[in-house]
Amino acid sequence: MTSLAVGNIGELVTNDPTADDLLGIVQGAALVVDGGRVAWTGLAADAPAADEYVDAGGRAVLPGFVDSHSHLVFAGDRAAEFAARMAGTAYAAGGIRTTVALTRQATDEQLTASVAGLVHEMRRQGTTTVEIKSGYGLTVHDEARSLAVARQFTDETTFLGAHVVPEEYADDPAAYVDLVTGPMLEAAAPHARWVDAFCERGAFDADQARAVLTAGDASGLRGRLHANQLGPGPGVQLAAELGLAAVDHCTHLDDADVTALRDSGTVATLLPGVEFSTRQPYPDGRRLLDAGVTVALATDCNPGSSYTSSMPLCIALAVREMRMTPAEAVHAATYVGARALDLDDVGALTPGKRADFLLLDAPTHVHLAYRPGVPLVAGTWIGGRPV
Ligand SMILES: [Zn+2]
Repeated sequence: MTSLAVGNIGELVTNDPTADDLLGIVQGAALVVDGGRVAWTGLAADAPAADEYVDAGGRAVLPGFVDSHSHLVFAGDRAAEFAARMAGTAYAAGGIRTTVALTRQATDEQLTASVAGLVHEMRRQGTTTVEIKSGYGLTVHDEARSLAVARQFTDETTFLGAHVVPEEYADDPAAYVDLVTGPMLEAAAPHARWVDAFCERGAFDADQARAVLTAGDASGLRGRLHANQLGPGPGVQLAAELGLAAVDHCTHLDDADVTALRDSGTVATLLPGVEFSTRQPYPDGRRLLDAGVTVALATDCNPGSSYTSSMPLCIALAVREMRMTPAEAVHAATYVGARALDLDDVGALTPGKRADFLLLDAPTHVHLAYRPGVPLVAGTWIGGRPV
């Protein structure tokens, strides 16, 4: 494999945890890649020679975005529901059932083509690692095939049979939890690395979520959780107690929830595309960071509550609406996103890490929030190869 040097970088974000600043920024930098990994970073003037050269033209280079929360395996869209919501109808968890019906009808080929399109969209916007959940099949067969589809695109696949109780089990949710923790988990586990549940009024309560996560753990799947999105609830405390890698949404938190997050080290993944798309109050990123909680950002890309694949949009929203600094938001979308997925070889550009990076058509990472809605990502590389 040939080596690659990216030189004339105006601002290189390394996320080096030993640096004095949060992003480990090097001005006037170069980045050298060998064998798909970062081999060297430093001042451009000191860079070793490489087989190929890319001139960054004084622009910024950042680690690729790590989108640790998405629901890309689905069919159809819910534009009419979105329009109704913008006209005043409230968002409720039950809308998921609309997508479930369409997803069950779709062929594997249709689902694969749809996921491929969304992953392509993400890469164009700088995302180099994506987690993909099931959760719109909700039968043994449809959950397993959703995960098999997702596995073609990422190793970070998550079994979310406990997304919502499907229509046919509406009268007997306990029987559905038995299905999820039994035959559905058994069929899903070979295609998944993670297990997740939607712990929310209208979805699953704490005992049901605990049963799903515990069963998943016994099958070798690590846990993550949707919690405290639509109102206060027990999910964040449950996630902290179980020592999950991440608990996602975290919009409605009391002081005990914040303390539990800080003490457990469980990553709080904030998903501001949801609040944007449902016109609800944003999670308080500033409060969490000031309390010492580890905060990640992700898109939650799904057809109901957040149909955006754009990490740059999430960064802009986090800065504008959640009082995070541009540096904190970029860190949350890269380095901490990797932590939320328990990955230690992505999310930073230090020697040994996978050479997943993006070239920004701007002199600094600040432009991601300063110039919202502008297509600033000029190129994306995964393992040192342009994609
Ligand atoms: Zn979600």
